[in-house]
Amino acid sequence: MGFYRRRQGVFVCGNCSAELKGAGRHGVARNRNNPYFWGLTNEPARVLCQQCLMVRKEQMPSIRRMKFNQYVKLGMFREN
Ligand SMILES: [Zn+2]
Repeated sequence: MGFYRRRQGVFVCGNCSAELKGAGRHGVARNRNNPYFWGLTNEPARVLCQQCLMVRKEQMPSIRRMKFNQYVKLGMFREN
């Protein structure tokens, strides 16, 4: 499971334990790091980094996958 480290202000990827910045002030992971946002409803982790999402790309519904490719192209994950 991904979790939030309050003090450091980072999330930890639920799969590979990579630290993700940009958690914001409220301790809520950004949509792009939420597997549910990408239609990965069977994913037990609540927070995933770009690389782990990339591995699961084929499991995404095609509309979500197109959006994901767009996000990657736009560099939306760069700050991770
Ligand atoms: Zn990861």
